[in-house]
Amino acid sequence: MLPLVALVGRPNVGKSTLFNVLTRSRDALVHDEPGVTRDRHYGICRLDESRPFVLCDTGGLSGEEEGLAGATARQARAAAEEADLVLFVTDGREGPSAVDEAILAWLRRSGRPFLLVVNKVDGIEPGAALAEFAGFGVEPSLPVAAAHRRGIDELLAAVLIRL
Ligand code: GDP
Ligand code: MG
Repeated sequence: MLPLVALVGRPNVGKSTLFNVLTRSRDALVHDEPGVTRDRHYGICRLDESRPFVLCDTGGLSGEEEGLAGATARQARAAAEEADLVLFVTDGREGPSAVDEAILAWLRRSGRPFLLVVNKVDGIEPGAALAEFAGFGVEPSLPVAAAHRRGIDELLAAVLIRL
């Protein structure tokens, strides 16, 4: 069985864009409207042909649903709980939000291994964007610009050494 990696994060941070880049598909719905991906959505990342893994895109955790109890949040939580590794995706332009902190706390409680992915660092200084998330204390955190395929090789390497 192939290892499973889940994309988790609040809506609109670029999870589906990253899913499409990693799976080289256009399957995931990318939309400006938050919360477009409601179900779990699976694809295979074969960017390293010798080490394929299954990638799961999820709807965002908005933090609005009481106790993360909404259907979308349940899907995201279920995906994270069955994953070998979670990619916790955040928006480097907006910086850390209260919802990100809630997701971080939940991920820590879940005990799942995770990496912090700081997306949308195009047009901003990646180091400065990362520094904003330093308080999360997550090592490593990886700056990417999914829409521009930037930082993907480094992200892939960080994923593969953990699978
Ligand atoms: P999701 O809700 O987390 O799945 O986010 P989406 O993948 O649907 O993307 C939400 C919005 O962010 C879309 O308008 C994307 O085009 C945009 N986006 C995604 N990645 C990047 C990026 O690297 N840079 C910028 N500037 N925008 C991005
Ligand atoms: Mg999405």
